[in-house]
Amino acid sequence: MTSTGSHVAKASADEQTTPRTSLRTLLVEDNALDAALVVRALNKDGFEVAGDVVQDEKAFRRSLRASPPEIVLADYNLPTWKGMEALKVLRAEGLDIPLILVSGALGDVTAVECIRQGATDYVLKDGLARLPEVVRRALREKHERSLRLRAEQDLAAKAEELARSNADLEQFAYVASHDLQEPLRMVAAYTQLLAERYRGKLDENADKFIGYASEGAQRMQVLIQDLLAFSRVGRKEGTLVSIDCNAVMDGVRQTLSSSIQESGAVIHYANLPSVWADRTQVAQVFQNLMGNAIKFRGKEPPVISVQAQKEGQQWLFSVADNGIGIAPEYAENIFVVFHRLHARTEYPGNGIGLAICKKIVERYGGKIWVESLGCGGSTFKFTMPLRSSDASSGTREETGQ
Ligand code: ADP
Repeated sequence: MTSTGSHVAKASADEQTTPRTSLRTLLVEDNALDAALVVRALNKDGFEVAGDVVQDEKAFRRSLRASPPEIVLADYNLPTWKGMEALKVLRAEGLDIPLILVSGALGDVTAVECIRQGATDYVLKDGLARLPEVVRRALREKHERSLRLRAEQDLAAKAEELARSNADLEQFAYVASHDLQEPLRMVAAYTQLLAERYRGKLDENADKFIGYASEGAQRMQVLIQDLLAFSRVGRKEGTLVSIDCNAVMDGVRQTLSSSIQESGAVIHYANLPSVWADRTQVAQVFQNLMGNAIKFRGKEPPVISVQAQKEGQQWLFSVADNGIGIAPEYAENIFVVFHRLHARTEYPGNGIGLAICKKIVERYGGKIWVESLGCGGSTFKFTMPLRSSDASSGTREETGQ
């Protein structure tokens, strides 16, 4: 046996009675007799061993490249090299090949240290009967590792694909809604002109048809503007600042003041924290939820309560109302673009508000959902990540009466 690598011995005839598993090994061993004993121990337990025996780094590297082994069995101490050095070479080459130390003597402390550094296991030369089982386990673990790695790679590839297709869709929605605005403006303007100029001059049907066309064009304009607003959520590179949600609620209350007064809504909000986000987007979330709480009111005037509490590394916000409630089977659908549960004649709207809330909240790594379903009102909940600058302040109460 030489340091440039000799081939390991084949199994003897009497050892070939059990079913054989072929095993490509790379033995790092300077003692020919020990190498033969290692091969014999493996042969005895059903392995058909093939591969090189080397005793220095150069030969190790050469053999590794010529025919990569399934397993490396390395003596701990060699005259000119060390078994653990082989591990460094494997790492440098980016190879996940188990390395088992086969040594005459290896203290427990050293053995533990070697395993800590990455050796798969160790076997003493006077206990070679253990070797086949150790090899089998190492190969099994390696197989499981590679399956796991493949699954992780598949998952990462799918996530990337999904992100790409989402980005494409978003781009499509943006371009479509943006570019459709101009021709639609023409249709709306001219149908309106027709209505103004020719009302009562043609027949009754003509007036009706022009009215339908004009209404349709206006509705489509609103839908397209909503879609554009929705697709802009992801495009906007808003500046992140610390925003006091109490102040945001003050603003929302102002914006909705006429519907608050008209419905006699009572709104409570207390000790809301500050969040780190884009101001307009946070206001949009609160406004959409508050607007819905007022719009989907029951017989009683709306009572709306906005609260927040710390939960782990996030703020959990809730917007609870005493309105008409939502049946559990619609709890997820209502967050889908243009999805509504009522006719427009019953409650006005386009079904974009909650989809926008979801997109904004998810943009900041949060989640949004609805609870307390049925006829006892609805509670919308959403999370926003906690920042060290988040702080609590003031308690307010506002009534529209
Ligand atoms: P829109 O309000 O324009 O219909 P949204 O996306 O804001 O669109 O809401 C989707 C649907 O979810 C609504 O049509 C309504 O059926 C339901 N919904 C939303 N908020 C409430 C609420 N507070 N109470 C009852 N139903 C609600």
